[in-house]
Amino acid sequence: MGNIFIKIMYKNENLKEEIRNRLKLSEVIGKNLSLKKKDDSNYIALCPFHKEKTPSFSISDEKGFYHCFGCGKHGDLFSYVMETENIGFVDVLSNLAEQAGINLSNYDNHKNHDLDVIYNLIKRASDSYIKNLNSPIGEKAKNYLIQRNVPPSHFNEYLIGYSGNLKSNKFLVSSLLKEGFIIDDIIKVGLAKKAVNNNLIFYFQERIMIPILNDRGRVVAFGGRLIKAGEPKYLNSPETPLFHKGKQLFGVFNAKKLKKKKRFIVCEGYMDVITLSKFGYPAVATLGTSVTEDQINNVFNVTDEAFLVFDGDVAGRRAAIRVFEKNLSILKIKKIFKFVFLPENLDPEDFITKYGENEFEKMLDNALSMIDFLWMEGLKLIKKEHPETNAIFWSFLRNKVKTIEDYNLKLAYSDEIEKRIKVYRNNSQFSQFKNVSKRNIFNNYKLIEKQKLPKTGVEKKFEAIIYIMILCPSVCQNFDEKISLLDFRDHSLNEFKDLILKLIFNTPNINSEKLQSDLINEGFAIQLRKIMQSNISSRLNLDENKMETENVHDILKELLHLINIKMH
Ligand SMILES: [Zn+2]
Repeated sequence: MGNIFIKIMYKNENLKEEIRNRLKLSEVIGKNLSLKKKDDSNYIALCPFHKEKTPSFSISDEKGFYHCFGCGKHGDLFSYVMETENIGFVDVLSNLAEQAGINLSNYDNHKNHDLDVIYNLIKRASDSYIKNLNSPIGEKAKNYLIQRNVPPSHFNEYLIGYSGNLKSNKFLVSSLLKEGFIIDDIIKVGLAKKAVNNNLIFYFQERIMIPILNDRGRVVAFGGRLIKAGEPKYLNSPETPLFHKGKQLFGVFNAKKLKKKKRFIVCEGYMDVITLSKFGYPAVATLGTSVTEDQINNVFNVTDEAFLVFDGDVAGRRAAIRVFEKNLSILKIKKIFKFVFLPENLDPEDFITKYGENEFEKMLDNALSMIDFLWMEGLKLIKKEHPETNAIFWSFLRNKVKTIEDYNLKLAYSDEIEKRIKVYRNNSQFSQFKNVSKRNIFNNYKLIEKQKLPKTGVEKKFEAIIYIMILCPSVCQNFDEKISLLDFRDHSLNEFKDLILKLIFNTPNINSEKLQSDLINEGFAIQLRKIMQSNISSRLNLDENKMETENVHDILKELLHLINIKMH
């Protein structure tokens, strides 16, 4: 009898925890009560338990409790549903489980006893990895971490450990068995598997072990980074009863603690998260998968605004498009995500380490909103010299907006898109005698959405870009769209840039000398002299007599990425 009782308790505790993981108190209460937001995790409302005219019912998602200062009612998710719907605890559990999308059959007694045991088992493994890291066999792993700029304080914060070699694995298993754990569970949590000859094969050998914690801070899996040469460099635990890759985010537990400090980052890798958190950013990683709907929901359980940071390369852009496509229709009011593209080949860890926090902040300042992204996607449909593709562009935008399920959001997007189309059309008519080039379109776009680039540092880079445009007009043609998008506070510099673009556009083969003389003829002698006589070339490490196209191309590209133009 007692045994059964314990099993039922286990079942409830695990189920309750899972429900709390997935449902916010405010979400459940907000279903039949209108809530007023106080801050990120606190709300107030008119008390449902007593009559009142001014709200004294407060709800805290962080604490998971509600409290009424008028009548003193106090409780959690479960007591709230029990009281307001007047149903028993078992029904409450099954109602909420359904709301949370939890399959109750996973919670039969037998499985749940197991679940609790394996939570303990995997925690026990994690503890032993931490011990390994701090013992002589962990020396190499420790050095690797230090070399990657992970401070020892972060070893503790992220519970980083070291798997050790085959011998350490065997020792861990024999200790676990002595402590009463069973082989089946060791296999179940993904520490080992059985070979044909019944020997154990260990998943993690000579790897730095980075535990993946669930929202409540319990270890559910590991990411292992190989410290010697070999493949794969990173290895995640296999899917287990505790770990579903597509649902879990790495770093979410720590990110919660940092979320009020800085903007919330969603990225790809463990080391990105750890590095960003060193700079105070709440960050989570998607564990090598492209961002899933479940993961987006998880992110929005923690924050209302998230910055999805992608590599600026083709794969990164593709990943961003997937996120855009998957999420446009299910956008929610007040749940905002933005897209950030880093310069090619740099991940967030590289970028912030190389350029520092200020530059990273600028990238965030210039992130693309969902509507910007939509507009940019649409622009791709326009073909030079084919004005009819404009119609395709507009219908693309309108059709996409129609897919948005939230009625008010759909209206707001629709208004904004119509506004932009109108401005865009006016400008096209205005310039109908010229070639309809993509550049015009970007310029029109620019009229609506002026980019406000911060002045310091950027101004110098901007001058450097102009300098390169003048010296190497052929190179700048590859970037004319990006350059035309640049908008700078210094009006005359802007004008100067636009004129250079125009001259290059009109005469694609123009060389530097001709360009310079044209600029003088157009009345820009003073600006030209100012740029050409500055020490930009030495700052860029450019030899003016040896302007090899490829080299200049790379420098220009880098500069453009550094000022973070909203581009694909
Ligand atoms: Zn009350």
